[in-house]
Amino acid sequence: MPELPEVEQVRRSLLPHIKNEIICKVEVRLPRMIVHPALAEFIAGIEGQVIRDVERRGKYLTLLLGNGQYILAHLRMTGALLVCSHDGAEPPFAKIRFVLANGKDMWFTDIRTFGTMSLCGGNDAWQDKGFAALGPEPLTSGFTEEYLQERLKKSHQVVKSFLLDQHKIAGLGNIYADEALAVAAIRPTRYSDTLTKRQVHALYEAVNQVIAQGLRNHGTTFRNYQDADGFMGNNKDYLLVYGRKGQACTRCGALLKQVRIAGRGSVYCPHCQK
Ligand SMILES: [Zn+2]
Repeated sequence: MPELPEVEQVRRSLLPHIKNEIICKVEVRLPRMIVHPALAEFIAGIEGQVIRDVERRGKYLTLLLGNGQYILAHLRMTGALLVCSHDGAEPPFAKIRFVLANGKDMWFTDIRTFGTMSLCGGNDAWQDKGFAALGPEPLTSGFTEEYLQERLKKSHQVVKSFLLDQHKIAGLGNIYADEALAVAAIRPTRYSDTLTKRQVHALYEAVNQVIAQGLRNHGTTFRNYQDADGFMGNNKDYLLVYGRKGQACTRCGALLKQVRIAGRGSVYCPHCQK
């Protein structure tokens, strides 16, 4: 699933293709991917509008339109936004097509079809609940060590679940949560309210560090993630634990273990992470 660095890479790669371009036509092949409003209104609200900018919050992308509304997109498991030439071949798993005035098409492709889009900011007060409740994100002024300390102290979740909770910190998924815990030398099954001050400090630094590294490397690719130009990030080469179950820890040589937390596999070093 694309996490903060991957979604940010999608945003950056989309900009030169779609910023200040007019959307002439929208074709929706799988209507259930449109969460709000009704399909006809979604299309009517977008066709003829210029895309003023593309922003990102957590794992959401927002395409700001000339009419003041915005398209809210969430890629979920396997969604991608690709830009192709209008005469070129249609990309695989194409679900929603945005025909642009510059001769290009922006496609929302999705293999597993959990991705969603909505048109927000209109006359109705509808809000995407997940988007409205996002917590602060790493590398921003809202995410401070004091904030993290406070929220961890009040939480009875295991720390891995805490890191995945988008209401607490926006943007982390399984990859960057496992990596942050590895960098901070904290076991994923530790209860959040039992971490020492030193560990909270280490976790705060680690969350920012792994997200910054993911951004620098244009995201982490395992299977499906790609940016608007079809490029894949190279952060995979820098991972300490994620996807390395049964392999040797790069720091101590112990074999990395996996534990299931809330249905997700979490890989950690039993020697380094306490
Ligand atoms: Zn180790």
